[in-house]
Amino acid sequence: MSHVRLVNVTKKFGDVTAVNSLNLEIGKGECFSMLGPSGCGKTTTLRMVAGFEDLSDGEVYVGDQLISSPKRNYYLPPEKRNFGMVFQAFAVWPHLSVYENVAFPLRIRNLPATEIEKRTKDALRSTNLLKVAEDSPANLSGGGKQRVALARALAINPDVMLLDEPLSSLDPHLREEMRFEIKDLQRKYGFSIIYVTHDQAEAMALSDRILVMKLGVVQQIDTPLDVYNKPANKFVFSFIGLSNFLDIVWEDGRATLRGENAPLPESLTPPEAMRGSDAISLASRPSEIDFVSVGDEGGLRGVVSRKAFLGEIIDYQVKIGGQEMRVQKGRRAPGPELGEVCCLRFLRPFWYAGEQ
Ligand code: ATP
Repeated sequence: MSHVRLVNVTKKFGDVTAVNSLNLEIGKGECFSMLGPSGCGKTTTLRMVAGFEDLSDGEVYVGDQLISSPKRNYYLPPEKRNFGMVFQAFAVWPHLSVYENVAFPLRIRNLPATEIEKRTKDALRSTNLLKVAEDSPANLSGGGKQRVALARALAINPDVMLLDEPLSSLDPHLREEMRFEIKDLQRKYGFSIIYVTHDQAEAMALSDRILVMKLGVVQQIDTPLDVYNKPANKFVFSFIGLSNFLDIVWEDGRATLRGENAPLPESLTPPEAMRGSDAISLASRPSEIDFVSVGDEGGLRGVVSRKAFLGEIIDYQVKIGGQEMRVQKGRRAPGPELGEVCCLRFLRPFWYAGEQ
């Protein structure tokens, strides 16, 4: 059974439709990420679930319980939704100790003193903050402050944890470490997570499923593996992982690169259904292209226009006609030199028709 359910949820700010008829079911204990570029409606969606933002239309449920519905004029206030929240900004109260930062929401809920102490200590222990319980959070590092925010959210024993870019102010190393900590806490406490990020690696590492959004509209909802391996459209392909596109033209029964005359090898024939489109793209991941010997029948000829050593991998830019392709190979794999003519074979070409 779904834990959090959004039915045709829409949010308009004047003429801007920030979220357009979103339907979503998040399972109990699931880690669900919303991913997309800035302005695509992720935060607005999360704020509507939290109860900080009214819906323009649609309904939100937790289990069987309706929590928001403008049509029925029903709205459960945020403090009555049992959600923990952590946002990007370090939202800690500097004038209160770490302990009091965590205990405060429990005091507001008028819990018995023994229960407040137990829950606060447990949350501090889980986030490795017991040692600094009496300190001011102002003296903690960014990671420490975010741990306080996490502990405060944990202490209320939430059904759902709403996390909006909680790691984006941290340095990359700490970010990675805290991803694992969040997953460990989820296993321990069993809450569901709705996680907002524009960082695709973070979404892939954390999530059971990912929603990719563009301009308020869902593009795909799938497991990280399927979002990567079976991107629903060009936008999803380009947003997840590194991507490359070649513009292809289908004319007189043959495919050519846009602006070129020479036909493409047969292995690079666009699917029949796309041949009527005037915007056909051949998409490929840089790591899924091989260098083959020049003259290989299934290969595409180009010239290496840039070559960069990135440690474990070599990053090539290859000019094919008037277009560029990026190719990445392990540093031990043989590859062409800068300026050399080379031949590319696409190991897993994807085809898209239309701009999107
Ligand atoms: P970011 O990653 O930058 O936070 P986002 O994907 O979370 O982006 P939202 O903040 O949800 O996107 O914004 C979605 C759209 O709604 C944007 O066009 C934004 O300008 C608009 N918007 C959001 N909040 C308001 C508001 N209070 N008033 C007017 N427009 C708003």
